[in-house]
Amino acid sequence: MLQICPKCKKLSCTWCIDDNSPLTQWGCGCGWHAFEYENKERNCPVCRNEKSDSYMVENGIMYWWCCHCGRIELIDSNPLQSID
Ligand SMILES: [Zn+2]
Ligand SMILES: [Zn+2]
Repeated sequence: MLQICPKCKKLSCTWCIDDNSPLTQWGCGCGWHAFEYENKERNCPVCRNEKSDSYMVENGIMYWWCCHCGRIELIDSNPLQSID
């Protein structure tokens, strides 16, 4: 299922599950790629869509990304080692 890429804003972003990792891997033909922490999804505070806000990590940068409305919210005070 294709989603709107947060980088190029085209409907060309896909995910795949890595058997060796608890994370979902996202990627797009434009070069964007990120990992999603599946257990941290939440309802989007903007469009109110259920469980569409995903906790993404891209090169050590963490942000909430809603695959429904495309909103991105950077998380800057949340060190990676606190995630279990
Ligand atoms: Zn893209
Ligand atoms: Zn949303």
